[in-house]
Amino acid sequence: MEPLVDRLGRPLETLRLSITDRCNFRCVYCMPKEVFGRDHAFLERRELLTFEELARVTAAFAGLGVRTVRITGGEPLVRRNVEHLVELLAAIETADGGKLELALTTNGSALAQKAEALAAAGLSRVTVSLDSLDDEAFRALNDVDFPVQRVLDGIDAAAAAGLPVKVNAVVKRGANDHDLLALAEHFRGSGHVLRFIEYMDVGSTNGWRLEDVVSAEEIVRRIGERWPLEPVAAERPDATARRWRYLDGAGEIGVVASVTQPFCGGCSRARLSAEGRLYTCLFAARGHDLRAPLRLGASDVELTEQLRAIWARRTDRYSELRTAETASLPKVEMSYIGG
Ligand code: SAM
Repeated sequence: MEPLVDRLGRPLETLRLSITDRCNFRCVYCMPKEVFGRDHAFLERRELLTFEELARVTAAFAGLGVRTVRITGGEPLVRRNVEHLVELLAAIETADGGKLELALTTNGSALAQKAEALAAAGLSRVTVSLDSLDDEAFRALNDVDFPVQRVLDGIDAAAAAGLPVKVNAVVKRGANDHDLLALAEHFRGSGHVLRFIEYMDVGSTNGWRLEDVVSAEEIVRRIGERWPLEPVAAERPDATARRWRYLDGAGEIGVVASVTQPFCGGCSRARLSAEGRLYTCLFAARGHDLRAPLRLGASDVELTEQLRAIWARRTDRYSELRTAETASLPKVEMSYIGG
């Protein structure tokens, strides 16, 4: 069969599954309390795809070339029995009969309790979001007064369960950029790769301003001045992070420069919202409803054909085309579609 590519020649390789739009954190740049307060209408349980529905869609994607599935949210660990979903996904084969790579992105708050069960269920690796080691700054960023030590305990638990760990830190000027070196120092030599993410204009509720972005170039310069770095080749053509290695052998860092050095050209990611809408770009305004056909009895062949048609038509490259004007247009929220 012809390999599936979109209109810009990009294959479909990664699926990001948002399994809930809820989160126990209210990170100021992602789910600000003023918008996601007590009255916010989150999705109802019946609106969410069930684990069986998620597995069915994933199997269809795997048949079209997807090799990596990332479970995200919202906070995926707030969805009850998430390890059962991992079990279902771990049983799905890739198009060439291999195993799916199963990753999960979490704020780490429940990882100490969940890590072992997730590893036993077949999770391949975990990414923990951690924006600061400074307890006061961390509590202010998550805006629910959650202590940083519990996330660090979660990272330790994941490593003890045998899960490779990456740590993602979004850098927002004035909020946590004072903590870059402390983060780098903490994870140097730990075996966990730390990745810094440029603050992005996702969604429409975080009041994003270009002045708040700390560029990857600045991040690498500031860390490199303290511990010299050299670039490392990307592992995959669709990698989001550029890699840098410490010259003294203490491991590496990554920088995700989606604002200052966009990487749409290699984007092979499809994203499914918790209610089953398929988005072909993180910055899209609209998705394609898969829940209705799923619940109305579409066959596997019909489902696969629908996915194939959506991907084949894809032309999105928002970050490469970003202007001040497009940055202020309505877009899907990160907490709804997942990171
Ligand atoms: N709750 C999980 C977590 O904390 O990792 C998964 C979902 S969260 C939306 C995924 C990632 O998106 C987190 O690392 C978060 O910091 C990042 N994120 C949210 N808003 C962002 C923004 N405006 N710019 C860059 N990254 C953002």
